[in-house]
Amino acid sequence: MNADLERLIALQQQDLEGKRLRAELVEAPKWVAAAEAALKKAQTALAAAEAALKKEEVLRRSQESDVLDRRGKIARLSKQMETATSAAQISALEHEITFATDAIGKLEDEEIESMERTETQDTARAAAVIAVAETTGKLASERERAAKTTAVDTEAVKVVEGERTRLRAEIAEQWLSVYDRVSKAKGTGVSEGVDHKCSACQMMVRPQRWNDFTDPANETIFTCESCGRLLYWDPRRDAPVDWKPGQVTGRAQ
Ligand SMILES: [Zn+2]
Repeated sequence: MNADLERLIALQQQDLEGKRLRAELVEAPKWVAAAEAALKKAQTALAAAEAALKKEEVLRRSQESDVLDRRGKIARLSKQMETATSAAQISALEHEITFATDAIGKLEDEEIESMERTETQDTARAAAVIAVAETTGKLASERERAAKTTAVDTEAVKVVEGERTRLRAEIAEQWLSVYDRVSKAKGTGVSEGVDHKCSACQMMVRPQRWNDFTDPANETIFTCESCGRLLYWDPRRDAPVDWKPGQVTGRAQ
């Protein structure tokens, strides 16, 4: 294989790896931000559950004190009944006692409803406590993961940049400029020819051209007539031997 082409394949690997690393460096802070948002959401839910429970407590205390007031009133009215003389007076007192008794019944029903709401809110609070603990743990682990990834990737980018500089210095300007132009437009500048096709754009390579391209003695660099990428051919792809990606670039490294 043409030595420039081998270096271009290696360069493309470095370029793609650099791109992946840079994308991950952009993503890493987002992992932390997402974990922070999840924790905040859990904390908000916990605060809401606690506020709701407090509200019910206050409500029930007021209901209980209302019930006591009315019981006191009934006691006073009953005492007045003992000394009441006229039928009209007795009827009025009876009416007031019935009214207070009904009010107590209503307050007690409301108290039961409040107890039921409290039960639901207790469950919500318990779930929120668990969610806060879980999201707190997750935030710590995401912070660690992001910091570790950032450190590792930052170092890896330096290695990639070093390799790129080294490889680019060794590639003929003529091919480097083709590679740069095509990879800038299409994401990659080198493509493997597989099964009479450009593996990047899937366009067929004409039979005669394919024969020249795959000639073991060929040292010419072919470009895909459709996408313009620099084509390379690895005979191991068509031979029954184990293939490991990257083997073909062994000589260039
Ligand atoms: Zn192509």
